Amino acid sequence: MPVIKVHDKEFVPYLSASEIEEQVKRVASEINRDYEGKKPLFIAILNGAFIFAADLFKHITIEAEISFIKLASYKGIKTSGKVITAIGLDADLHRREVIIIEDIVDTGKTLFHFLPQLQHQHPTSLKIATLLHKPGALLHPLKIDYLGFNIPNKFVIGYGLDYDGLGRNIKEIYQLV
Ligand code: 5GP
Repeated sequence: MPVIKVHDKEFVPYLSASEIEEQVKRVASEINRDYEGKKPLFIAILNGAFIFAADLFKHITIEAEISFIKLASYKGIKTSGKVITAIGLDADLHRREVIIIEDIVDTGKTLFHFLPQLQHQHPTSLKIATLLHKPGALLHPLKIDYLGFNIPNKFVIGYGLDYDGLGRNIKEIYQLV
């Protein structure tokens, strides 16, 4: 198995391109089955989810829309906690069936703090689809509705995920040695 070096760290192959493709197709078919006739709106979270979102969306055969947002976190002026806002959220979520597309849910902190902002727009439903999830790292209660893979609590790159900017264009998923 070839070890690759990205910046200062070494990574080994973890999920092959065909294993990923198989699970992406399976997730798409679950969504096709559950959202028939509902015209869901996918919201993909940039940057990491761009490849998963594109591959997943290609296998969506029902009527559907997709939009892309970026999340930015900053320190609140009045509160000590982090505030997460969406950049580029132009879609109206009111009475829509919304599916968030994430690359990875790690501690769950990002989505846990961000989802209530989407709930304010009163979507009919709000579900989460993530390619990867580290159950061992989850710190916030979060229901994942569509999942590619549960993975161990180790840093991964490839298929859209980066290490300090690099590695997003690797077709497979690699794990830190
Ligand atoms: P959370 O808020 O769930 O802890 O973190 C979610 C974000 O952290 C992901 O969208 C991703 O950007 C980053 N992240 C968490 N774990 C990994 C990992 O193993 N590899 C990479 N490349 N990013 C990760």
